[in-house]
Amino acid sequence: MPEKQKNKESALKVIEGVEHPSSINTEAVNKFIRKKISLLNANECVKGILEKNRTILSQAITLVESSLPQHHKIAQQIIEKCLPHAGNSMRIGITGTPGVGKSTFIEALGVFLSKQNLNIAVLAIDPSSMKSKGSILGDKTRMEDLSTKENVFIRPSPSAGSLGGVARKTKEIIILCEAAGFDTIFVETVGVGQSEIAVHAMVDFFLLLMLAGAGDELQGIKRGIMEMADAIVINKADGNNISKAKLAQRDFQNALHLFPPTESSWIPVVKICSSVFNSGISQIWDTILEFFELTKANGFFVENRLRQEKHIMFETINQSLKDNFYSNKIVSKILPTFEKEVLTGKTSAYIAAQKLLEKYLNNK
Ligand code: GDP
Repeated sequence: MPEKQKNKESALKVIEGVEHPSSINTEAVNKFIRKKISLLNANECVKGILEKNRTILSQAITLVESSLPQHHKIAQQIIEKCLPHAGNSMRIGITGTPGVGKSTFIEALGVFLSKQNLNIAVLAIDPSSMKSKGSILGDKTRMEDLSTKENVFIRPSPSAGSLGGVARKTKEIIILCEAAGFDTIFVETVGVGQSEIAVHAMVDFFLLLMLAGAGDELQGIKRGIMEMADAIVINKADGNNISKAKLAQRDFQNALHLFPPTESSWIPVVKICSSVFNSGISQIWDTILEFFELTKANGFFVENRLRQEKHIMFETINQSLKDNFYSNKIVSKILPTFEKEVLTGKTSAYIAAQKLLEKYLNNK
């Protein structure tokens, strides 16, 4: 098979990264954002969000994503005022390796749900875009059908910052979307690293997309990720692939039986579907609804959300302390010297760390 063709058909196709062109004048972009956003204050933003004004919602999200300190305060005010109106959605995480069909699946499910008058928001966390390279999730020319629906809002991944930072922003964007009346929120991420854990910590239901016959190892899905899944869905169950998908379904189901019982009392399920041919999509939605019914009835839903809040509190403290330490003037000045001393064996790592922390605490 020619190389080009092979890549096209491979489940493991990775969209090549493209460096941002240097011609992007970030200062000009920031100035534009500042100008556009300074027209609205926090109250006006919140009013617009509650009135389901998409333009204002997008602007508020831009504020949340902004790294400019002057945006931070107003973003926090907006989030705080939106909080009482948030929480009323089904938060659903979708993960899987590049090429498994995440966007095609979300599109198929989203189109199905939009016909039932649900309001759907699609957010993404893409670890590749955080390194300012082109994203694995691809630019959102994807989900073309879905993006034209009136009750659908698609927002690509924030493209800068650490995973922790982007995850926090995504959680805040969920709050804004909920306040704007979105009742079904998909958070998509690529199953290649830590981002699944971050997404798992902010959703109610976690769905892992897989392929038949590609082998777990090849698909790069770690056992830990499978353990987090409330449903494993084998996509591309169409054409010659149907029988392979059914076999894989049985295998995964057997593998799941070996996992420890879940805290939610939900027994994870394995389903097959074809996102391209729209088969199995409504059954998957039924499964998701069953999960919500069970976990709302047994109290896990509320308990889990509260636990997630606590987790975010500690994450935020940890991140802020770290940022504060590394951005400390004295620390950043003397850190390279200590690093050199550790690398040349002059100082032990422990002593260097202690001295740096002392300097930090004395110069806060
Ligand atoms: P993502 O990287 O996980 O978001 O994957 P995409 O949704 O971009 O899909 C990757 C490729 O697989 C595309 O060429 C899709 O058309 C194809 N694809 C996705 N779902 C299916 C499916 O159910 N059946 C078949 N045959 N192809 C699919």
